[in-house]
Amino acid sequence: MFCSKCGKEVNDNAAYCRNCGNKLKNTKKYDFKSWMKNFKIVLIISIIGMIITALTSSGTGFINVIWQISRIVTILAISIDIILFLVCTVISIKNKEKVPIWFTIIQGIILAFIIINAIAGYIDKKQKERIEENIKNYNYQTKNSSYITLDEFNEVQIGMTYDEVVEIIGGEGDLIVQDAYTQTYSWEPASSSDMYSVTMTFNNGILSSKMKI
Ligand SMILES: [Zn+2]
Repeated sequence: MFCSKCGKEVNDNAAYCRNCGNKLKNTKKYDFKSWMKNFKIVLIISIIGMIITALTSSGTGFINVIWQISRIVTILAISIDIILFLVCTVISIKNKEKVPIWFTIIQGIILAFIIINAIAGYIDKKQKERIEENIKNYNYQTKNSSYITLDEFNEVQIGMTYDEVVEIIGGEGDLIVQDAYTQTYSWEPASSSDMYSVTMTFNNGILSSKMKI
């Protein structure tokens, strides 16, 4: 290039003119190829990350730790990849450069991976919710099948643990009141017991009071 002040030819990368000391504007364009180098590194990390994430997704313990780490690295790499993709595309349009076909294909694969993952994650979440709902319903039904008799009520002693009480009655109670230290459960009385309702309060899991009406 040439110095804008004195007109002498200067090195393209020079910051100042050797002849007159004029501060030179760096007119060097961002070129697509140099961005591609950065992009390739990110791309390799993304792909390796995706493979490791997929391979370790159903593991437990140490494998689960690897999954957690590789997932974060992959998400980061893919985020950077998307930013680079946008930057590369803008630059290539601005410089009227042609975008290589492999670049577009790989970006398509990565975008498809993100979309598939998001959909799979959503389905997985819905399935888990349904399973939890089923377990809840099952527990509720099991609870309702266990009635407390008068004998069982008398057998339960202050100082017993919740599990001991459950073993005597034959079923879990319904948690009706709970705070930091105490839990109050109710059991439905058997129809022959002449009791209307039974509640028991546990202090840190130890029966502190029982009441029948
Ligand atoms: Zn000059």
